[in-house]
Amino acid sequence: MKKQIAVLPGDGIGAEVAESAISVLKVVSEKFGHEFEFKKGLIGGCAIDEYGTPLPDETLTICRESDAILLGAVGGPKWDGNPSELRPEKGLLTLRKSLDLFANLRPVTVFESLAEASTLKFEVVNGVDLMIVRELTGGLYFGRPSERIGENKDAVVDTLHYTRKEIERIVQKGFELAQVRRKKLTSVDKANVLESSRMWREVVEEIAPKFPDVEYDHRLVDDAAMQLIRNPKQFDVIVTENLFGDILSDEASMMTGSLGMLPSASLSADGPGLYEPVHGSAPDIAGQGKANPLAMILSSAMMLKYSFNLSEEASAIESAVQNVLNEGYRTQDIADSHSPVISTTEMTEKVKAAL
Ligand code: ATP
Ligand code: MG
Repeated sequence: MKKQIAVLPGDGIGAEVAESAISVLKVVSEKFGHEFEFKKGLIGGCAIDEYGTPLPDETLTICRESDAILLGAVGGPKWDGNPSELRPEKGLLTLRKSLDLFANLRPVTVFESLAEASTLKFEVVNGVDLMIVRELTGGLYFGRPSERIGENKDAVVDTLHYTRKEIERIVQKGFELAQVRRKKLTSVDKANVLESSRMWREVVEEIAPKFPDVEYDHRLVDDAAMQLIRNPKQFDVIVTENLFGDILSDEASMMTGSLGMLPSASLSADGPGLYEPVHGSAPDIAGQGKANPLAMILSSAMMLKYSFNLSEEASAIESAVQNVLNEGYRTQDIADSHSPVISTTEMTEKVKAAL
């Protein structure tokens, strides 16, 4: 199989972990006989420095022409004081919007050898394997008006806006993902308070009959937040709107012990998907070789699976990661008292060797 992959390393540790993913993918391409061509582009702070914009046209063109996009992370203290149009994060928001990446997939997998490092009890998290599917291009984040109002501007309004079509496509995606996993979908809303949630429930009910083999239920977001901590193993796929998904996925991320373990994918209807670690550019450890590359490496596995349909290759990466962790190798963020701490490149080499 021949594929072009846009690589946008971005800032801080983004650049370090992007290199890790590329080198792991090179091993995959040799082992399985695929041809991956990597095209690099600038995004975020480094693009502001070079081109005066966080998302240069050239980068957007590379992304549009590629089969998938791997992104490191953007941002850093250097650009913190910039006006909003010249902030690194703006580059990422514009990219997501331009490619219509409406479905954000965040798997939370607790590796047994890391379950001790979780903020929750071992018995509660060991074996957790769930996925949060968050709507990414609508809801409270983009609804207008969003402003101070009234004569004295001492009132305020934000708008939770969805069209039926926007809800349909994300719910559909949730069912499709559940169907290829453990066939269980939990739709999360706040239907006792919000009209948007009541329409969300209607849509779930309309789409459900197309997936007779998927068991589904509705949960209120407050209940879901509590259940995620009480008994996370009950969940397979959770589908929810933008803000609820944001909050629940940060909550769920704590089960894995480190931000450095969490991959993500953002998908559109038919264009290239974007794959990136959940963590940011981590300016506090940038350039020191301390970053955990596993979130980025696992994001590249998601790319193989969801954009290229290469499930076997994706599983090979996941198993390699699992083996390396079982052997006791740790970067500093997941270190415990009995394992020596290794660097970003050492961890990457271990994964490649395991592959
Ligand atoms: P953003 O605003 O971009 O989300 P943030 O400040 O919320 O950024 P991160 O940049 O992800 O968060 O960093 C949060 C903390 O987690 C930092 O202390 C950072 O060093 C640590 N961290 C994040 N990613 C990793 C990683 N891959 N390996 C090790 N530590 C990490
Ligand atoms: Mg953050």
